[in-house]
Amino acid sequence: MQINRNKILIIDDSILAIKALEHILKDIYEVISARGGEEGIAIAKEQKPDLILLDIEMPKMNGFEVLKILKECHETAATPIIFLTGFMDAEYEERGFLMGAVDYIVKPYNNNVVKARVMTHINLSKYRKQLERQLKVDMLTGLYNRRGLDEYLLEAAQEAVKKEYPLNCVIVDIDYFKKVNDTYGHLEGDRVLLHVGSLLTACLTPGGGYVARYGGEEFAVVLPKADEIEIRLLMEQTCKKIHQAKIPNEKSDISPYLTVSAGGAGWILKEPREAKELLKTADEMLYHSKENGRNRFTWYQPN
Ligand code: GH3
Ligand code: MG
Ligand code: MG
Ligand code: MG
Repeated sequence: MQINRNKILIIDDSILAIKALEHILKDIYEVISARGGEEGIAIAKEQKPDLILLDIEMPKMNGFEVLKILKECHETAATPIIFLTGFMDAEYEERGFLMGAVDYIVKPYNNNVVKARVMTHINLSKYRKQLERQLKVDMLTGLYNRRGLDEYLLEAAQEAVKKEYPLNCVIVDIDYFKKVNDTYGHLEGDRVLLHVGSLLTACLTPGGGYVARYGGEEFAVVLPKADEIEIRLLMEQTCKKIHQAKIPNEKSDISPYLTVSAGGAGWILKEPREAKELLKTADEMLYHSKENGRNRFTWYQPN
């Protein structure tokens, strides 16, 4: 049984060259191919291979031109590309590396060296992806951190602008969380953060929402499409569910069980950058919830 094999795309105008490489790699990888630059770019975008072997000498569009387009394209910018060439000099080599190629294979090649080079770059790319993922995730809760949120928010904002539906942000802050730490210790505080993160995810994401850990004991929620009435209802239920979970916070000024305050804002954005404004406004609304007694949700009302 072969599961999750890495996918390699060969772009070469010579069918013989493709067949030769396929023969070397097919036992280890899923190999797909294209006979020219245009077809190769289309396949790369659609099939998202883990690595591309790209011939430089091709009619119509040469390898350098193909590389440039692949590097500019969001779907393929991070895909490692190894150049294949029958000709090599230092200037040529430097040009390819500066444009973002990760390696060269010069024809005629040794089969084992090809396998080794491909394997090295597949592994490097895997580690890079893992690191990138870790940079976006909060270690404690497993939710996206602020960096992950920023990326998601921008994508959600682009989509919302394009489709002209409102984008909504909510910020949730645990009430008197410092007292949880002071009363039960920092470790228990960590467990509470984990618990609240999972309650928020369970309450808010089934309809397409997204929860991130925004800061210490603050969470940010992005809710595309929903309208004010839906969000008010959802947030009131969520605040209630968290209170009903009866997480102890006996020194809290308002309840022996943990409560949260939240603020939200949403509108149809004119441009994706405006999403930052949503977060800022949601934060201001959170401040009102705190000022007005905590354990509540405040929604932005434009004048
Ligand atoms: P308020 O109701 O006004 O929000 O009061 P608060 O006590 O929740 O807010 P404050 O900003 O005074 O305290 C937040 C506390 O959260 C202080 C900080 O030590 C704690 N904290 C931040 N990050 C972590 C964490 O990762 N783990 C734990 N256990 N505590 C954290
Ligand atoms: Mg060629
Ligand atoms: Mg806070
Ligand atoms: Mg707090």
